[in-house]
Amino acid sequence: MVTADASERERATDPAVRALLALAGRASARGWTVATSGNFSVRLDAGRAVVTVSGRDKGALTPDDVVVVDVNGALPAGASAEAPVHAAIYRGLPGVTALVHVHSLAATVVSRRHAEAGYVRLEGLEMLKALRGIGTHEARVDLRVYANTQDMEALARAVARDVDALAPSWGFLLAGHGLYAWGTSPDEAWRHAEALEFLLSVRMHEEARR
Ligand SMILES: [Zn+2]
Repeated sequence: MVTADASERERATDPAVRALLALAGRASARGWTVATSGNFSVRLDAGRAVVTVSGRDKGALTPDDVVVVDVNGALPAGASAEAPVHAAIYRGLPGVTALVHVHSLAATVVSRRHAEAGYVRLEGLEMLKALRGIGTHEARVDLRVYANTQDMEALARAVARDVDALAPSWGFLLAGHGLYAWGTSPDEAWRHAEALEFLLSVRMHEEARR
């Protein structure tokens, strides 16, 4: 367990912390967290999650770059500025155990183009089947696009309000900013992030040709 008095050795062997650092490392390796961007979390229990701290290279995190957040309470010092958004997802979707937020090129480009519409329609692509609950390429996913903001508490309130509608798409976009994706395990959160990123990359290339 990660607490203020936990030794570094205990932190390093905590399964949630190891899963969290693995998610951050994989996203960094894909180039989705340039310039210390992005943040990640893994649920510990019903009321708590481990979240990455702000301003660190996500490819070089250590167990000391992780804080425990009370998803119903105030944020600890140093937690990612976007931690309230993570907390809103954990409160609203009890089955979610991990969350990935990246500033990838495709998410940034496509979300800007669809900011006014408020969603990106993803349909007709085999990769949709990588999302839990979808068994055919004939499915349609409307990925929500929120306006970007520096007021993450306000965004968290909007996400909390919309959480049931967001659930089937396993993620959402912030315009000109990036992608949030989640899952019922760290591996599933990663698969959903990869799938949505791929679908958005296809969209970016298709729209560039028009
Ligand atoms: Zn961000």
